[in-house]
Amino acid sequence: MAESFHLECTRCARTRGAEGLPTLCECGAPWWVRYPLKELAARFSRRALADRPWTLWRYEEVLPLYEGESPVTLGEGGTPLVPARRLAAELGVSEVWVKDEGKNPTGTFKARGLSAAVTRAACGGTRSFVIPSAGNAASALAAYGARAGCSVRAYVPVDTPRLIVEECRRYGAEVIRVDGLISHCAQEAQAWSAKTGAFDVSTLREPYRIEGKKTMAYEIAEQLDGRAPDAIVYPTGGGTGLIGMWKAFDEMQELGWLDGPLPRMVCVQAEGCAPMVRAWARGATHAIPWENAQTVASGLRVPSARGDFLILRAVRESGGCALAVADAALLQGARDLEASEGVATCPEGGATIAALRILVRTGAVRPDERAVCLNTGASWKTFDLST
Ligand SMILES: *Cc1c(COP(=O)(O)O)cnc(C)c1O
Repeated sequence: MAESFHLECTRCARTRGAEGLPTLCECGAPWWVRYPLKELAARFSRRALADRPWTLWRYEEVLPLYEGESPVTLGEGGTPLVPARRLAAELGVSEVWVKDEGKNPTGTFKARGLSAAVTRAACGGTRSFVIPSAGNAASALAAYGARAGCSVRAYVPVDTPRLIVEECRRYGAEVIRVDGLISHCAQEAQAWSAKTGAFDVSTLREPYRIEGKKTMAYEIAEQLDGRAPDAIVYPTGGGTGLIGMWKAFDEMQELGWLDGPLPRMVCVQAEGCAPMVRAWARGATHAIPWENAQTVASGLRVPSARGDFLILRAVRESGGCALAVADAALLQGARDLEASEGVATCPEGGATIAALRILVRTGAVRPDERAVCLNTGASWKTFDLST
């Protein structure tokens, strides 16, 4: 386990201990979790991992867990990195790998973040949780809340698939359907939290969901024997995964775990909701909220992200880029991956395939390069069972 860790503001660099139930810095920005990496570099090598179980908690030295504590876990992480050879040949790029996050508990990578966040909050004494969600974060919180013996309340937009609402309820969560977007759900969740003291685990409002999600990068590096890919293509909503993976690559470099350069981080959004792409094209450090957000990829329907400046910073620092794809293209991307490789793909995952097609065509990814696409969830999460 991590023997010590502390928090450092992502904006004003103020620091504090990790005791209690930290949320945001006084300046309003999220916290980074910081570990004594220099010390760890001397005694925590990649070889030390060999005999550990394949869940994300195998990286416990760089996760927020103290001696004597146990994680709230359902076996999240350890997802396959699938070589997509036919797709690579068709796209004209040397290697395409798909990190298949649909294999996680509750069928999406939201499990990683919520395993970490629920673990910390439960250690801090929390007994009830609240979350605003497009659906997948709600069902992951519902599962981990049940695992921790805590109560969960979720606010989701009315058009959230009935399948996911049912899934949450089976885990014992209360689900409130809100006639509005995720931003309206966030207001409702905040009000509930203020009224009842339920712990609000909204994206980037507490420091630990990022820590869970960053483990995707640790796994990718381990699965590629210590060499980062040239590009990581990520379907971006609130951006926790992209921010977290960039943080993890930085940590791994400090730990001396990487042979070769860092990857370029590519932020993919849907044309009907692309605030990060617009901000990146303008060279801005922050994004303006997107009006009338519309896309079939509900995980990408995030008009304004608290971590906008962190997403843009990661894309810029890594030499990556941001691009948008049409709904028809992302749905086609999901079908391509399913039919050519057998990977059950969500629309958000399909967006990374559609994006890679454009990146290869424009030369942003060269034919001799290696790309990793994140399939963030399984296809079954989007099946409509209402007919
Ligand atoms: C939440 C979600 C996303 C977006 O993830 P962020 O880390 O918020 O950017 C992408 N795909 C799926 C399936 C999701 O549930």
